[in-house]
Amino acid sequence: TNIVKQNTNIDNLSKIDKEYFIHPTTVPKDFIENGPKIIFSEGKGIRVKDVNGNEYIDGVSMLWNVNLGYGQKELADAAYEQLNRLPYCSSFYGYSNENAIRLAEKVVSVAPGDLSAVFFTSGGSESNETAFKLVRHYWDMKGLSDKKKIISLKRGYHGATISTGSATGIIGFHNFSGSKDMDILHAKPHLTNCELGDKTAPDYDESIRSMIEKTGADQIAAVIMEPVQGAGGVHVPPEGYLQAVKKLCEENNILFIADEVICGFGRTGKMFGVENWDVVPDVMCVAKGITSGYAQLGAVLLNKEIRDTLVQYDQILGHGFTYSGHPTACAVGLATLDFLEKNNILQNVNEMEKELKKGFKYLEENHRHLAKTRAVGLLAGFELMQDPDTETPFEQSIRAARYVVDHCFDNKLILRAADFEHQVNIVAIAPPLIINKQEVEEIINIVDDALTSFEKTL
Ligand code: PLP
Repeated sequence: TNIVKQNTNIDNLSKIDKEYFIHPTTVPKDFIENGPKIIFSEGKGIRVKDVNGNEYIDGVSMLWNVNLGYGQKELADAAYEQLNRLPYCSSFYGYSNENAIRLAEKVVSVAPGDLSAVFFTSGGSESNETAFKLVRHYWDMKGLSDKKKIISLKRGYHGATISTGSATGIIGFHNFSGSKDMDILHAKPHLTNCELGDKTAPDYDESIRSMIEKTGADQIAAVIMEPVQGAGGVHVPPEGYLQAVKKLCEENNILFIADEVICGFGRTGKMFGVENWDVVPDVMCVAKGITSGYAQLGAVLLNKEIRDTLVQYDQILGHGFTYSGHPTACAVGLATLDFLEKNNILQNVNEMEKELKKGFKYLEENHRHLAKTRAVGLLAGFELMQDPDTETPFEQSIRAARYVVDHCFDNKLILRAADFEHQVNIVAIAPPLIINKQEVEEIINIVDDALTSFEKTL
């Protein structure tokens, strides 16, 4: 009777879900027919359970954010303690709180170069939106108010507001609902890209360079990019690319914004993604990993010059969010940074990157459609192609990445397909940074089975 009762409850939940809950990044017409794919209920370590009691390995840290995995008591306790003491207070009108103050200092202390001050937000979109507004405001203060345009890369993901959605270079997101920020320009993505066969693509930073020449540097406020493009399909830039773009920005009096929303706080094996290429951005946007997803928080870091200019503004800074500097979210942020350091998480990421690469090598030797495996820390992925040697993609009807991800899901491993573009079949892997060797092997084994099963369908 228990099982019957439980199922009734789940059916009921599913029904209510379909009726009342509009889901982000979901096909509504499918959802209304099929209901939720899974209803999560609890988690421990790298694993999550659904309401039926099925246990899954979370191979993508949910949305690349639950970096420390589930059930970390220190993080929960930090939130609980603060919720009881003072759940919320404002940072507007000169109000402040100790957690936000200490987290601002802490984040600056671990950030590269002269990143010197922090503006808090509630997530990644708000961080990037804030960065766009602050860099434009900075140029205003410098008497260069024509500098309004932002260059972003195709295939990048920067958020879902009007401006950050415009900066996002993934078709479905970029075009949804129509309205655009006309001050956003898209440059071609860097070369290790999924525009297969595009041998004429200009090298390195050429696309950005010609865009600056065409538009005029006096119109351009900033260039934004992810150190490693995440949602677009885990695209690692070629060596020298980020440095070249940074130099180009410097030469043209343009600010460089690093979107570290996925890369930040250890995901790539360094504290921040840009550190893999020794680049210091002028502005750095973070979210996700700053609280390991245990609370909603983002931040924008400003270099010394921007910070020193901004603090001279003698009118109200007309920007901010109710939850900017949220004391409970900041308590979780402090606990997260503490956990990262105390548990040598970066070292684990670097060791597990090696294990993952060993697994990729094994898969490559055994599956002929596997291509372009990559991992920077635990931000990883692979592609599936008809012929990896000639980079020939599968024909459009073969949804290889989707098949593999669905098969893994049936075998209790959650991965993510990046197949926004036709004939692009990328599978992303980004497990919690606390993963161990045996768990990496479990992931590889499940992927191995999925690939074998996929090959049988051809
Ligand atoms: N920037 C990057 C690189 C992201 O991956 C994301 C989300 O996936 C965002 C920005 C937007 O963050 P949020 O969904 O918290 O608004």
